[in-house]
Amino acid sequence: MPEDRVTLGDVYRARAAIRGVAKHTPLVHSPALSQRTGATVSLKLELFQDTGAFKLRGAANRLLAMSEAERRRGVVTMSTGNHGRAVAHAANLLNVHAIVCMSRLVPANKVEAIRGLGAEARIVGESQDEAAIEARRLVEEDGMILVPPFDDPHVIAGQGTVGLELLEDMPELDTVLVPLSGGGLIAGIALALKSADPSIRVVGISMDRGAAMVESLRAGRPVEVTEYPSLADSLGGGIGLDNRYSFPLVRDLVDETVLVGEEEIADAMAFTYWNDRLVAEGASVVGAAALLGGHVEVRGERVVSVVSGRNVDMGAFTDIVAGHRDRYTTRNCEESN
Ligand SMILES: *Cc1c(COP(=O)(O)O)cnc(C)c1O
Repeated sequence: MPEDRVTLGDVYRARAAIRGVAKHTPLVHSPALSQRTGATVSLKLELFQDTGAFKLRGAANRLLAMSEAERRRGVVTMSTGNHGRAVAHAANLLNVHAIVCMSRLVPANKVEAIRGLGAEARIVGESQDEAAIEARRLVEEDGMILVPPFDDPHVIAGQGTVGLELLEDMPELDTVLVPLSGGGLIAGIALALKSADPSIRVVGISMDRGAAMVESLRAGRPVEVTEYPSLADSLGGGIGLDNRYSFPLVRDLVDETVLVGEEEIADAMAFTYWNDRLVAEGASVVGAAALLGGHVEVRGERVVSVVSGRNVDMGAFTDIVAGHRDRYTTRNCEESN
């Protein structure tokens, strides 16, 4: 793979590599969203991917690209969210030792989820920064290999396999709505779709609290933003000031970006649950939120919204879909969660 860019060929190679690890997920029609928007809306159900999110595609592709010698060194990550789960699961399948570094603040259920997937949970310090120092030590002193969540050519190519499945299942697609954080998912999808048909519109959607990629696009370079608690917690975090891959691809290939608010995300979680009967996490319904909020014009088009994951706290989820949402949508922006 060339050092400085990801190509459609890399996405096809990723698909061959991860077959048997990540599945081809269903694409289903959403009558309710179609009716509300005057478009033909379908949902790409990445929430049914193993580990509950699309991240398995990229993580598996990264691990499969490692040499035998590299695999023996083991892999490390600091993510306790969907990326951490994906790395843990892929490593377990490939018999690679995986360590997930996390602080003492990480809730017990997340720690157990990582352990349950076969990885070592290494609890260090009181903050994410201290966990990051331990991860760096494991890389520098013990030679372990860091698996990045989005800014990596193999990870982006792996996520791009979602785009290949869309081309197969709905070649006449007009617009795709993709949740956007570090941009690995949308970069891969855009690469696949635009290579096949540059007229397919690719729209990235982030929450309006701390949208690092959108701010970076505005600034013309990667910038840091303040993080706030959000229902779309999987969309939190920066893009890295030293971003090399996902930022340029998003800048060059994505047609539009849209921001949605917390109330809109809560509405979309409830709408998706009651109408499409899906338990979808906040980050994964931002496409539905953008459609329901009228933020993207799609009338008459064939639209796909990527429903990216389902790893949501079920207590919070049942509160939100039952209409008891104030506690979750009115959290103070100063709160650091
Ligand atoms: C990671 C994640 C995203 C965002 O993906 P990026 O590649 O960081 O843009 C969206 N939805 C879910 C559920 C995720 O876990």
